[in-house]
Amino acid sequence: MRRTAEEIAKMRKAGRVVAEMHAATREAAKPGATTAELDAVARDVLDRRGARSNFLNYRGFPAVICTSPNDMIVHGIPGPYVLEEGDIISIDCGAIVEGYHGDAAFTMAVGEVSPLAAGLIETTERSLWAGIDQLRPGNRLHEVGRAVQQVAEAAGFSVVREYVGHAIGTAMHEEPQVPNYWPGTGGPALKAGMVFAVEPMVNAGSPATRLLEDGWSVVTADGALSAHFEHTIAVTEDGPEVLTLP
Ligand code: MG
Ligand code: MG
Repeated sequence: MRRTAEEIAKMRKAGRVVAEMHAATREAAKPGATTAELDAVARDVLDRRGARSNFLNYRGFPAVICTSPNDMIVHGIPGPYVLEEGDIISIDCGAIVEGYHGDAAFTMAVGEVSPLAAGLIETTERSLWAGIDQLRPGNRLHEVGRAVQQVAEAAGFSVVREYVGHAIGTAMHEEPQVPNYWPGTGGPALKAGMVFAVEPMVNAGSPATRLLEDGWSVVTADGALSAHFEHTIAVTEDGPEVLTLP
């Protein structure tokens, strides 16, 4: 679907709220903090900006952010988990403003982390930007995944297949999906006005995933570390416009 300039302006507002949630949760994610405290900080931002949560009550999800430490890939539920020095933590945030959605995630080091963890974070973020750079009119959507996969695998890491990015607008998850790997075909032709959430999930070990008994938390099957970065991006005639920046 192609969005009008007015719709993209609303998504830009939602994206700025998401960026503010990122800044607030990043600041709060110190050794000793619980992931429930990060959720509370994110709720404060939504309240202050008069925005609604697109995560809360989504298929019963109980929080406004997802918090996924260490070997957890995505969809972790904030709760009693206490952040420790040396952890990595992925924080996924979303907001609705005037009916339009923003969705973005980042992974950060808690204090000092291993060189492997630091490299995984750096590579995953770089893979996101390589994917974003493909969001140009005339390109095919799956060039995004091809670029993500190239960056991740060149660094010796692997890309999760079971969970993917998505188009976004008046719903958080719209069609089409945005794979983080080359699925064998080019996919839809990109046009100005299309808006996508690109969100590579990169594992230090194998790409295989496992769903925990809570029905939400997705972890690496082999227990290796995983990182996740995401932005909401509009395709414009001038190239990609990232909507979830401050
Ligand atoms: Mg997200
Ligand atoms: Mg998303």
